[in-house]
Amino acid sequence: MKARRVLLLGPPGAGKGTQARTLAAELGVPQIATGDMLREAVAAGTEIGVRARAFMERGELVPDEVVVGVARERLAAEDAREGFILDGFPRTTAQARALDEMLRELGTGLERVVVLEVDEEELVQRLLRRAEIEGRSDDNEETIRNRMRVYREETQPLIDYYRQRGLLREVPGSGSVEDVGARLREALCA
Ligand code: AMP
Repeated sequence: MKARRVLLLGPPGAGKGTQARTLAAELGVPQIATGDMLREAVAAGTEIGVRARAFMERGELVPDEVVVGVARERLAAEDAREGFILDGFPRTTAQARALDEMLRELGTGLERVVVLEVDEEELVQRLLRRAEIEGRSDDNEETIRNRMRVYREETQPLIDYYRQRGLLREVPGSGSVEDVGARLREALCA
């Protein structure tokens, strides 16, 4: 049995988005990426976008209550009933607790958490290359280094949080997209 309620963890640039997209399509469940949702809100100029923008541009985390609201609404949608691939949420222990609570209210829970492990310097180089291709405003070197620090300080503690709950699998994130994908799929099996 493959897990269908999945969280992908890992530092910025580890390939979560790419893997989440193909995996979600394969499993027929939505990819829920708070970063994408927030960028859309910024582009559309919604109230959430206005609140999130400055944090995102600095590579800081958007306040928990804003992101938790966005995630809660998305997870409650009809198309997420049979599963989802969470990508970029939760990123703090408070968000992880909020996620546990919202899933409990929906009568469900996470089945698997996979952390993609990649060396930090390799990631900085990857993100700088991506910045040239995509032109993301939060992809200059200073912001990238800040996002790495935020990951280490705020998000890495979630690895233990989920290990203690017996949900965690660690997957090496270097190599081709296909190789990482194969390891990831294996980690979703019981
Ligand atoms: P991402 O595309 O996942 O790297 O997210 C881009 C930016 O959106 C991050 O650097 C944060 O500013 C913000 N963001 C996305 N998800 C979250 C989250 N779960 N908590 C706080 N901020 C977030």
